[in-house]
Amino acid sequence: MDNATAVCEKLAYAKCFIEISASILLPSTITLDLEGGDRIDIPVDYEWTPLLCKKSVNFGHTEAQCPTTRVWRQKEPTTHQ
Ligand SMILES: [Zn+2]
Repeated sequence: MDNATAVCEKLAYAKCFIEISASILLPSTITLDLEGGDRIDIPVDYEWTPLLCKKSVNFGHTEAQCPTTRVWRQKEPTTHQ
């Protein structure tokens, strides 16, 4: 959490760094439990999201680029002339 948010200044928005498992979808809202038992859903905007491969559950590439889906093909026989 940035310092302005921690000290409750400039509360138009908050920037938080959170760790999320690669095996779940990024949430579009988070639910806050408020004092007094109230709950509120807060929409989440992402400035940037990494490429995520749902097949191998790794960041940095998509399913189409996944090294686990590479198809090995036999080389064409060479012709000697
Ligand atoms: Zn992959």
